[in-house]
Amino acid sequence: MRKSDLVRAWGRILAGYLPALSIEITKECPLSCPGCYAFQPGHLGDIAFTSLADRRGDALVDAILAVIDDRKPLVVYLVGGEPLVRFRELSRLLPKISERKIYVEVVTSAVRPIPIEWASIPYLNLVVSIDGLPAEHDIRRKPATYERILKHIQGHQIAVHCTVTGQMMCRNGYLEEFVRFWAARPEVRVIRFSLFTPQIGETGPEILTADQRARAVEEMRHLKGQFPLLQLSEQMLDSYLNPPDNPSQCIFAQVTSCISADLETAVTPCQFGGQPNCHECGCVASVGLDAVGNHRLPGGLRVRKILEVSQSIGRSVRSLREHLKDKRSTHSLQGANVGDHALGSNGSDLKSQS
Ligand code: SF4
Ligand code: SF4
Repeated sequence: MRKSDLVRAWGRILAGYLPALSIEITKECPLSCPGCYAFQPGHLGDIAFTSLADRRGDALVDAILAVIDDRKPLVVYLVGGEPLVRFRELSRLLPKISERKIYVEVVTSAVRPIPIEWASIPYLNLVVSIDGLPAEHDIRRKPATYERILKHIQGHQIAVHCTVTGQMMCRNGYLEEFVRFWAARPEVRVIRFSLFTPQIGETGPEILTADQRARAVEEMRHLKGQFPLLQLSEQMLDSYLNPPDNPSQCIFAQVTSCISADLETAVTPCQFGGQPNCHECGCVASVGLDAVGNHRLPGGLRVRKILEVSQSIGRSVRSLREHLKDKRSTHSLQGANVGDHALGSNGSDLKSQS
């Protein structure tokens, strides 16, 4: 994150807007990854993700632009379902988001070809989820196999995003083998790791034990110096080991609004929805922003402290703006009533004059 981005984000927070917006662009996905949070019961509380009325075609493009223009984010994450299911709509939408000078990340499995014209869209970042080496990935994420991914990313620059699972940490050197493979590809611009984040009470082999988590972080620390494409800092490594206690302590959750495929239903408390176990969170977005928040400014103050104060100012600004908006719409309604009234009287007058 550049300093200028931080300053812009701060300005947005002070103005009462959230700088990041995550949109589940569709409820459809040809994959069925074990541990996928979007399709888990409870992701949207009592509402089933698959029951949402999602849009297509111009209706989808227009509705997303309307949400963006209303919420004024600096960065938009388009997630799924699988965003490429709506590649035609995205081919129209992405240039329009880019024209607004808003960063946009499309998080995809690369299950189908990524349109080559996307390669020249400014502000666009393609993030391809690749969960381990072929032996594990191809089982978890079929039909988005390595063979397909390698074909579909040709001509693009991508960020590789790997969610580390308990299974991967059963073998020493796994992460190094993974990074070595992807760092050698000309399409790869950056490599990011998340650690699998369970829901409260969830069980399963994806979840890392405390020992596996510690080993994963040690392996990452070891790889950091060797592979410059690996997006990691010492502060991030610390944050993987000390995740936020709850969503109110999570900067990512605090600065990102998340909506689901009907573009109305909020995904809370963060993009995982449901009841995520913050104590075992390893989401790279949360880790990255936590590291920024823990950074000390000259004078010793942490960025997190400034953020908290700014959020409280922003909340007041937002409620004032909403109050004024309500007042304006009440006035215009009253104006319309007066107008109707006037028209009615005039009409009667005209009638009586005629
Ligand atoms: S690709 Fe994403 S949305 Fe689809 S099943 Fe896998 S994790 Fe879930
Ligand atoms: S991103 Fe992680 S730490 Fe933040 S609210 Fe979600 S689960 Fe909790």
